[in-house]
Amino acid sequence: MNNEVKILAPGTVANMVCGFDILGFALHQPADEMWMRLLPEKRVVIHPDPQYNLPTDPEKNVAGAALLAMLDAIDEPLGFEVKITKHIKPGSGIGSSAASAAGAVVGANALLGGRFSKTDLVQFAMFGEKLASGVKHADNIAPGIFGGVTLIRSILPLDVVALPSPELYVVIVHPQIEVRTADARAILRQKILLKDAIKQWGNIAGLVAGLTTKDYALIGRSLEDYLIEPVRSILIPGFDLLKQQCKAAGALGGGISGSGPSVFMLCQTEAIAHAVEKIMINLYTGLGIAHHTYCTTISNAGITTQPNNNPVFAPL
Ligand code: ADP
Repeated sequence: MNNEVKILAPGTVANMVCGFDILGFALHQPADEMWMRLLPEKRVVIHPDPQYNLPTDPEKNVAGAALLAMLDAIDEPLGFEVKITKHIKPGSGIGSSAASAAGAVVGANALLGGRFSKTDLVQFAMFGEKLASGVKHADNIAPGIFGGVTLIRSILPLDVVALPSPELYVVIVHPQIEVRTADARAILRQKILLKDAIKQWGNIAGLVAGLTTKDYALIGRSLEDYLIEPVRSILIPGFDLLKQQCKAAGALGGGISGSGPSVFMLCQTEAIAHAVEKIMINLYTGLGIAHHTYCTTISNAGITTQPNNNPVFAPL
């Protein structure tokens, strides 16, 4: 009963430019650290990170909501205890809630000897996303659980496609401004023009083909969003200039991460990624907006677990 697992649950980028709600990818950094063990009765105990005032009530913490959904599918007297140290700031747009929800179910599955499939785990973790944003979306959860780039072909029924991807550097800037997910959803147009939809379909297909064939130029050409970005980017100061400067420095392209305020750029080489990071820092320093940057790569592993040899929980 005292066996513990340690989980590394990385950030994820959803709404991958033209792939609103359907394409996302896992990052190497930043990553939340979590520790878990089994309990001998049906309950969930959460020790959230004290630095962020997150709920301890398992029904209100996304990790708890995901684990309670998993317990509903288990006909045995067992439960889970979870400790979370957050390195992904909640509300940053790089999948903070998804890391906790998906990390918790991946950790639980490791404690249970891997009895659930990855698709089952996505289904459980989506209860966490429903709690965080009101919508049961999977484009942050799935890349965490499957690793790499994932396509959510359908939510009902759930159909996740893990896509191959060439090595890609990811540079992210998180301007410390608040963009409420509800506001970012409320401003979206509910109707789109057929001519814009056709351009978007072309880009989604081009992006998937480019990732599969490792065609960087095709990936770059396909990283354009005609539907969401023109509306949402007004919530992010300096967005157009940032994108223009990053592309001029060699970035393949990029856009808003999740519903913002973070912005990401994909790059083919480390040297270009460092140049892009400098541009981000200079631009937001110039605008007088506090910010944080990450220069990392797409993680094909996603969430990982290992036995924890330095126990964090007191013996039961
Ligand atoms: P992000 O895109 O960074 O995940 P969201 O706005 O989708 O940001 O999710 C953060 C919301 O989820 C916050 O309201 C936060 O209080 C809530 N939340 C509940 N439990 C957690 C948790 N364990 N980790 C992160 N956020 C959590």
